[in-house]
Amino acid sequence: MRSSARGRSAERTAPLSRRIRAIYIHSPFCRRRCSYCDFAIAILRTRDDVEQYLRGLSLELHQTGRLLEPRTVYVGGGTPSRLAPTDLREFFRRIDDHLERRSILEYTVEANPEDVTSERADVLVEAGVTRVSLGVQSLDPTTLAKLGRRHTPDQARTAIHVLRRAGIRSINVDLIFAVPGQSLTDLATDVERFISCSTDHVSAYNLTYEERTPLHSLELLGRVNKQDSDDELAAFRLVRERLDEAGFAAYEVSNFAKPGHRSLHNLTYWNNAEYLGVGPSAVSCVGHVRWKNEPDLARWFAALRAGRPPIVEAESLSPERMLGESVALGLRTTRGVLRARVERRARASIDPDRLERLTAMGLIEFAGPRIRLTERGLEIADCVAAELI
Ligand code: SF4
Repeated sequence: MRSSARGRSAERTAPLSRRIRAIYIHSPFCRRRCSYCDFAIAILRTRDDVEQYLRGLSLELHQTGRLLEPRTVYVGGGTPSRLAPTDLREFFRRIDDHLERRSILEYTVEANPEDVTSERADVLVEAGVTRVSLGVQSLDPTTLAKLGRRHTPDQARTAIHVLRRAGIRSINVDLIFAVPGQSLTDLATDVERFISCSTDHVSAYNLTYEERTPLHSLELLGRVNKQDSDDELAAFRLVRERLDEAGFAAYEVSNFAKPGHRSLHNLTYWNNAEYLGVGPSAVSCVGHVRWKNEPDLARWFAALRAGRPPIVEAESLSPERMLGESVALGLRTTRGVLRARVERRARASIDPDRLERLTAMGLIEFAGPRIRLTERGLEIADCVAAELI
């Protein structure tokens, strides 16, 4: 359902009377676009961009009209670490005015290795950040160049060291695999390098070719060759096996953690629970309503300055859609889906015939009240979810 401007503010105001336990804050700035990235970013050009962003953030948080009491806060982007240390300090000060700090169990900030300095790391620790997610992607210079990343492997290792020394409790590193020209031996070497960095969590994704990205254009021109699905599957298996042996337990299809280091915030998404997004392009989902903020920084700010919610689209999710999304997301986790809970929240039921068929095919199994993927199902998780719903 597309909403009218009037409908949008009504839809948003009502759900915000509820207690939201997960807050996402989008910081849009990047130095330039990486070859594979289709996120909503803004290239940081002038001081005015930062001023607008910080003022807008205060206005949007003020619009919520209450002190927020989240269990988790996640600052993503873009690249939050692009903000200069003084701006980063100001960013946290503005957020702090609207958050009950004592309720926060996990406070994550995304960073790029080339931005991590002792000064920025100290600002993060002072602000109460407990977890940093580093966009490492690879520790091989050739692969980094193919991805259009600006940092070197040494900068990534140094960033991890600097964050640890500053006192960051939990460090995630992102890893991309199935990069054009990357053999299984290359990937195995890369995974070993990641393991030797002694981090707490790894998010590992195969490279995707999103429309309107430089990488997608190169693929269309035949200048890069996408790996075929068998090669991608072999790469996925290699990553899972080796991380598992090294003590990183898989708890979601693409996420691996040492004991005590699962991402509580991302579990909110996979459990299809409620969250509030703040900042340009941020998405929120409260009750059965999902809305998205204006992605353009100037338009987002203009809406806020005019006293309007900066929302570009809002939709009311039907029970079937809610159920489908809960199942698709929950099946990605190793614990699977608590059937009664997703059916109650969606106010709809999973089709028993489909359950029976997928069980007979050995793709899903029952574990008490939960439905989860088998090892075989895990490798085609998206297909199984689509078939189930
Ligand atoms: S740093 Fe991250 S958000 Fe920015 S362009 Fe690269 S991949 Fe996209």
